[in-house]
Amino acid sequence: MTAAVVLFTSDLRLHDHPPLHAALKAADEVVPLFVLDPGIHAAGFDAPNRRAFLADCLSDLDASLRRRGGRLVVRAGPVVREVCAVAAECGATEVHMAAGVTAYAHRREERLRDGLDAGGVALRVHEAVVTALAPGAVTPSGSDHFAVFTPYFRRWSEESLRKPLPAPRTVRVPDRVRGEPLPDRADVKGISPGLPDGGESVGRDRFSRWSRSGLARYEDRHDDLAGDATSRLSPYLHFGALSPVELVHRARERGGPGADAFVRQVCWRDFHHQVLAARPEASSADYRTRRDQWRGEDDAAEDIAAWRDGCTGYPIVDAAMRQLRHEGWMHNRARLLVASFLTKTLYVDWRIGARHFLDLLVDGDIVNNQLNWQWVAGTGTDTRPHRVLNPLVQAKRFDPDGAYVRRWVPELTDVEDNRVHEPWRLPAGQRDGLGYPAPLIDLADGLARFKHARGRD
Ligand code: FAD
Repeated sequence: MTAAVVLFTSDLRLHDHPPLHAALKAADEVVPLFVLDPGIHAAGFDAPNRRAFLADCLSDLDASLRRRGGRLVVRAGPVVREVCAVAAECGATEVHMAAGVTAYAHRREERLRDGLDAGGVALRVHEAVVTALAPGAVTPSGSDHFAVFTPYFRRWSEESLRKPLPAPRTVRVPDRVRGEPLPDRADVKGISPGLPDGGESVGRDRFSRWSRSGLARYEDRHDDLAGDATSRLSPYLHFGALSPVELVHRARERGGPGADAFVRQVCWRDFHHQVLAARPEASSADYRTRRDQWRGEDDAAEDIAAWRDGCTGYPIVDAAMRQLRHEGWMHNRARLLVASFLTKTLYVDWRIGARHFLDLLVDGDIVNNQLNWQWVAGTGTDTRPHRVLNPLVQAKRFDPDGAYVRRWVPELTDVEDNRVHEPWRLPAGQRDGLGYPAPLIDLADGLARFKHARGRD
């Protein structure tokens, strides 16, 4: 009887899972393994919202494996130690896992390879599991990665993606391998009240429903803040409960401008992955320095607190920041404008904003979060790095009747449409009775400071 181990990381699904598929082909018995790694905790990446969502994903994975005659083995401890121990317990000759792109994932892979090698066990790393196309699969001439999205998208679109794999029918797990109890969402404190349920089953169901009801209109409606018309699949993609390869195939099968626009967004995710794979230091250092002397916690503490709490006096910014706290998620247009407000209008270091997002976002990941923050801050891959989003212009364009603001800022529920984005224009008596703060900063002052900082005044 031969055995193999499949180490699940950011790929918590059974459908379209190349490592599992390969392990089942290579061995009679397979141990589907997830390790609760204290390294993730030490690095501060296990925020409550993501811990709760992870617990859902693991329960769902376990239930799906049980329906196929298997189970998920969960172990707690340093990942190398646990994987080596499980491989020894079941007599595995191979361990399969998905390739990662972060510095943490690379270190983990190297250490695993060394640890397993010592025991004569081979590590097999599979590409295009976490992303649709492997980072580095397409490169421009003379560089190891694309630094601009549009040419990347063009090349990416020309590549044929691998065919999605079906979920296995049966998985035989050896009895002799012991596991720990699965983590439970109910044990996680401090989660956002509106946090969605995690897991492959919920994610697949959401995609199926949304692809019938929302995909066709995605192109026209994806920026409508109140319409909430995007897929909300990001947390399922983040945990790998859904396969990006499968989503792209299924969207393309449906076809049309909505599907094209959706596939383009999924490509943004691959784009950031290939940037970070080539430049792992961009998770904390400027990808392209603009020699900013950012304001930080010492000189902008009150501004930062107002931004985090959704009390800046700019209703569209505050609505978005309150949505983040309540749901652990925020609409992309809202992410763009609150990030621009913090980094450009308030001229605060992008890392402070990125940290706050990572503390709350259920889809928060080093790749997409840090590189999108850098994109907005103008230290990343945006070809117009000094542009500043005016929150009033954005509000009037993407929330024209104020429905998004009213949903999240109850102080403004009764304010008429033409003042809901600018409550400071209300007569003093009415304004003072709202209990809503005055604007933290004059937009013109913020713009002047930023232009000066970037030497563009
Ligand atoms: P849809 O509009 O339905 O798009 C489909 C999928 O495409 C998304 O689920 C996502 O996986 C991908 N996608 C869409 N836009 C982007 C983008 N700009 N960059 C990368 N992938 C994208 N996304 C994360 O997954 N994790 C993060 O930590 C994260 N942090 C962000 C921080 C900032 C400052 C900004 C501006 C954007 C960030 N994004 C992040 C990207 C984007 O906002 C979210 O992916 C999107 O809002 C998720 O909603 P959705 O699933 O409904 O997206």
